[in-house]
Amino acid sequence: MTPAYIGLGSNLCDPKNQLRKALAALEQLRDTRIERISSLYRSAAVGPGVQPNYLNAVLLLATDLSPIALLDAVQQIELDQGRVRDIRWGARTLDIDLLLYGDLKIDSLRLTVPHPRMQQRNFVLYPLREISDTNLVLPDGSDLDTLLQQCTDVDLIRTEYPLLVN
Ligand code: ATP
Ligand code: CA
Ligand code: CA
Repeated sequence: MTPAYIGLGSNLCDPKNQLRKALAALEQLRDTRIERISSLYRSAAVGPGVQPNYLNAVLLLATDLSPIALLDAVQQIELDQGRVRDIRWGARTLDIDLLLYGDLKIDSLRLTVPHPRMQQRNFVLYPLREISDTNLVLPDGSDLDTLLQQCTDVDLIRTEYPLLVN
């Protein structure tokens, strides 16, 4: 199985519940196990207009799905939770991005891995660090601790909300 990190975000229609539903759907994914789950982080929206804050989390999966099959699956979960694609970077019920897939570099029409904007995003880097034991080295040779030093934690709050509720 391949380790793959995915990033979840929501800023519409009860974000905490959206992320919990997404987690439940991801648990059902074929050929895939959820290995680690970060805390939930509250972040300010970056995008057009005034938008509600986001809740974000990062998950580590172990998967036998190909990268594109994994993208298909997470996009289906977005659709199932009412994601509407209209304005770029507009508010959304659920966004799931494929951040890293093993050490692969992918540059195709539908999929770029590592996610091209993850290195500047505190709401990706902090939760990623939380669930990785070691200082992750990305396929381009950059490492997580250095990337974290280069980004700020401005507008990012680690919340006490559990993502997993039993
Ligand atoms: P951003 O990519 O800056 O986080 P976004 O998540 O709002 O913005 P979307 O509208 O969700 O962007 O996705 C636009 C397209 O990006 C998707 O249809 C998908 O094909 C493509 N894409 C390319 N690389 C990835 C990736 N690593 N993870 C998810 N989608 C990707
Ligand atoms: Ca995104
Ligand atoms: Ca996305």
